[in-house]
Amino acid sequence: MEGPEAADGELVVDLSRLGLESLSLEQVPEERKREVQQLLLPHNRLLLLPPAVAAFSQLQLLDVSSNGLAHLGDELLALSRLRTLLAKNNRLDADSLPKDLAALRLEVVNFSGNQFEELPAQLLQMPGLKTLSMGGNRLKSIPAEIENISSLEFLYLGGNLISYIPPELANLSHLSYLVLCDNRIQSVPPQLAQLHSLRSLSLHNNLLTYLPREILSLVRLQELSLRGNPLVVRFVRDLTYMPPTLLELAGRTIKSRGIPYRPWELPENLVRYLDLASKCPNPKCGGVYFDSCVRHIKFVDFCGKYRLPLMHYLCSPECSSPCSSVSSQSESDSEDEAIVAARRMQKVLLG
Ligand SMILES: [Zn+2]
Repeated sequence: MEGPEAADGELVVDLSRLGLESLSLEQVPEERKREVQQLLLPHNRLLLLPPAVAAFSQLQLLDVSSNGLAHLGDELLALSRLRTLLAKNNRLDADSLPKDLAALRLEVVNFSGNQFEELPAQLLQMPGLKTLSMGGNRLKSIPAEIENISSLEFLYLGGNLISYIPPELANLSHLSYLVLCDNRIQSVPPQLAQLHSLRSLSLHNNLLTYLPREILSLVRLQELSLRGNPLVVRFVRDLTYMPPTLLELAGRTIKSRGIPYRPWELPENLVRYLDLASKCPNPKCGGVYFDSCVRHIKFVDFCGKYRLPLMHYLCSPECSSPCSSVSSQSESDSEDEAIVAARRMQKVLLG
């Protein structure tokens, strides 16, 4: 067995594109196998993970991409040093993985181009996982438990059937690349603004009509791709406004006029209710709202080139008139936003 050394001195065994249907390597001394750190078996005809793999006990990287694998057996669990598992373009699904896969301390997993219909539960028990690629599968959803993969920095889920982004995704505080292109996503939860490490967000080819206003607070964001979405191109007035209740009107008056009250003067539930007031984003209003608000789409200049439709919630329909026009009439807050965005955004891809 000839093992070319990788640049950093790691012993690499490259057996790619040899038409292999199995792997025996009986002629190779066991101690030699234990020196190997990378085993490359992509583009062969393996239908099973060869049991011989278990002898490579120091293996850190295993690449079995582009074979016919429908199953990864317990042999994998013998590789306690494995950090990178590349198994894209096979026939893997939820039943294909060892139950105890989470016993491995994997940092990079690539299962793109397989037949998964949901994220494997084992991966959701790997807090040390940093890179997860599951593009081109049949995923219909992202489980809320994605937040358990707390080290995740790179998440690629493009080319699936995902229609919904769970707000829990926003708890992945190290996430810097999020790829959700080519799915069926209709809205982006405002919580994503908590992803303070996010540098790149790919949302192209989805069903988005607007973005949450909060997206402007993603201070590290440098790349945003939105092409291929039915983003609204002009102001749309949403008339599904329910008039506020008397409780809400009273609460609005107390909050917006700054009428003082002390906790012991009001029933506990009313104090809690008053704490839930949201500030109307119209700078000329200064009012608040509780449950009754108007969905309003406002266009914000991005980088001086693009007008992005952002969703706002305003306190009343009258409130939308000062900022509803798409004309060039400028408004102080949107100008500030545009300047910030232009300085940091390096790439914005729209339709
Ligand atoms: Zn208002």
